[in-house]
Amino acid sequence: MIAYCTTCVMPDTRPDVDIQDGQCGACHNYAQRGAVDWAERDRALCQILEHHHNPSGYDCIVPVSGGKDSTFQVLKLLALGANPLCVTATTCDLSEIGRANIENLKSLGVDYVEVTTNPRVRAKLNRLALTTIGDISWPEHVSIFTIPVRLSVQMKIPLIVWGENPQNEYGGPAAAAEGHALTRQWLGRFGGLLGMRAEDILKRGGFDARDLVQYQYPSDEDLASTGTTGIFLGYYYPWDGCGNAMMAQAHGMTTYGRAVEGAMVDYENLDNVQTGIHDYFCWLKHGFGRATQQASLHVRRGRITRDDALDVVAKCDGKFPWTYLGVPIEETLGRIGMSLDEFIAVCDRFTNREIFRTRSGSGGQLWKDEDGNLERINDDNE
Ligand SMILES: [Zn+2]
Repeated sequence: MIAYCTTCVMPDTRPDVDIQDGQCGACHNYAQRGAVDWAERDRALCQILEHHHNPSGYDCIVPVSGGKDSTFQVLKLLALGANPLCVTATTCDLSEIGRANIENLKSLGVDYVEVTTNPRVRAKLNRLALTTIGDISWPEHVSIFTIPVRLSVQMKIPLIVWGENPQNEYGGPAAAAEGHALTRQWLGRFGGLLGMRAEDILKRGGFDARDLVQYQYPSDEDLASTGTTGIFLGYYYPWDGCGNAMMAQAHGMTTYGRAVEGAMVDYENLDNVQTGIHDYFCWLKHGFGRATQQASLHVRRGRITRDDALDVVAKCDGKFPWTYLGVPIEETLGRIGMSLDEFIAVCDRFTNREIFRTRSGSGGQLWKDEDGNLERINDDNE
């Protein structure tokens, strides 16, 4: 039986989620916010920026996608008088909205660098990661961390200002949630490498070490000589994605205009057309999708009730990703050299048969409706 957080709607099938006394780590962290001296943290941030102030260069690197959070990060840093170098690690399959929002971010008045990895290698990596670990977005999860860290070393800009600490908002081990500095140890554990490292990819063949340069962290020696350090803005401000979205839209960020496929809002995950596939695999493996994550954030903040969240999740989560951001899945798969039939076979291979209904006497063949959607079982979320 799947257990759920009694405050939000997060199931305990999420990796790293630990439900204690009925509450998930993210809800526990959120409840602590009232005890935080935010004015003190604001002063601490100003001190860090002062310490890293470079009168003839950049004060910090800000990893950006042009989305709501990074637009907010840039607005905040500019308001604090910092001179950030904005860095984008190009997503796996950049959408039109994503490109427009990158251009909008530049127009806020910043210097900007975009690092794009070899798209042919990238497509091969997407395919390999999808078929071997069920995560099409592995190259993106990795490169959004490795590329800014590499640039920090190359350009001798020690401070990297990230957005929220994902372990804090979404829940995870307490030690990871409390930290505000990004260490190599954290990068290794949470910085996107989840289940596969560049070295593992090389071993699986078909790649030259030089193909994967951007997917690897600098050496400890290089990090130490630059003094690379990362902080999470979410440690210094009471982070709220919805509030960030409002600020970002007021400064020109474009949204989808209706709820994104598989989601309950229109303002996030707009820059990578493969995200629908990524989120669907979370559903297949763990039995929850993007809407569960979003609804949980809003329940925690008292914007919707838990009962309403359950309705939203039942309506939005776990639909086969026939389109994402309006792009048909065949088109998206075609760019990584995969047919729809092949994709469905991969889906079936990664589907957790403990939480989805199978046809009786079928040797584990999955039950699906006419739209290809699965039916979840062992669900007792009341
Ligand atoms: Zn919770």
